[in-house]
Amino acid sequence: MARITFKNVRHAYPSPKGQAPVYALKEINQIWEDGGAYALLGPSGCGKTTLLNIISGLLTPSEGEILFDGEEVTQLPTSERQIAQVFQFPVVYDTMTVFDNLAFPLRNRGAEESLVNQRVEQIADMLDLTDSLKQRASGLTADGKQKISLGRGLVRSDVNAILFDEPLTVIDPHLKWQLRSKLKELHQQVGMTMIYVTHDQVEALTFADQVVVMYDGTVVQVGTPVELFNQPHHTFVGYFIGSPGMNVLPCTIENGQPIFGNNPLKTSYPVTKALTGTTEVGIRPEFVHFSQSGIPVSIEKVEDLGRYKVVTLNHEAEVIKMVMKEGEDLPSSSPMISFDPDYTRVYCDEWLVKEEGVNE
Ligand code: ADP
Ligand code: MG
Repeated sequence: MARITFKNVRHAYPSPKGQAPVYALKEINQIWEDGGAYALLGPSGCGKTTLLNIISGLLTPSEGEILFDGEEVTQLPTSERQIAQVFQFPVVYDTMTVFDNLAFPLRNRGAEESLVNQRVEQIADMLDLTDSLKQRASGLTADGKQKISLGRGLVRSDVNAILFDEPLTVIDPHLKWQLRSKLKELHQQVGMTMIYVTHDQVEALTFADQVVVMYDGTVVQVGTPVELFNQPHHTFVGYFIGSPGMNVLPCTIENGQPIFGNNPLKTSYPVTKALTGTTEVGIRPEFVHFSQSGIPVSIEKVEDLGRYKVVTLNHEAEVIKMVMKEGEDLPSSSPMISFDPDYTRVYCDEWLVKEEGVNE
């Protein structure tokens, strides 16, 4: 097992002659601690698969270095990196039995048959494949095939890390939930570094201790699910995580205080830096409340989602979403709202304006 470090990693795929390179990864500096359970979360096209392929060695980055436990491996081929990778679509040898498919990564490296038997049985048991071990893989459903793919990723115990690239995309929702819990359980048992790619926030938040959020070729924030919720470092994190996502509203700054429309807003710390870019205020729907004074709004829509209601509000041209808990009432006339100052954030060119003198 190893600690994996990305140092100034950038990657551009070959571009047509005469055209400037387009970077699929813009600049990544990231440490994956040995034994960590990471989710790599981001929309389609943001560079997740590119990043995984750089870890496993399927791709050599255009710039920068990859280190395993401090040793450079940037130019090492896949076969020398000891990385198991599970792809989005099943990779299965149809003519082989389920047993032989699972055994393949072990036999390929010359493992003793007794170890092969022992590991294959363990993994088959975990994935409920024991009854089909003697069957040919070609007869299995898409779910079954993807379970074999997962099993092949998990069968070796000598790998530096296991990379999962959206492995549950083709699996039915109930089984998806089961397999995800199993992976989490397995991580707790064996403590191997796991990086799990997904574009689904629920999947990321349930699997990982640390979620790495990617957007447009960069890592915008790494944090626990709670950190990502409470303190989004980038407006993208704010609206990608949470349902509904964070409200991002235009604002100006006067005397260190954001002004939205004509409404001064309170924050937990003043903006002390001179800002030159576009300034916005971010507030999650959970921290918007009806109040006696504040921002006048009209109510556009109320959606009852059982334990809470999502209220869509308008203030001039802006739309603001609010979450109302059970037992709270809609105001009878002239509604006004205020934002919880502890969760009212200022962003400049989409990045959080942090408290001066505080590193986090
Ligand atoms: P994700 O896995 O997050 O969906 P990818 O890493 O597959 O994203 O892709 C990142 C960007 O790189 C996208 O813009 C994609 O079109 C581009 N890209 C991916 N693979 C190739 C390739 N083989 N050649 C050229 N461009 C590619
Ligand atoms: Mg991908």
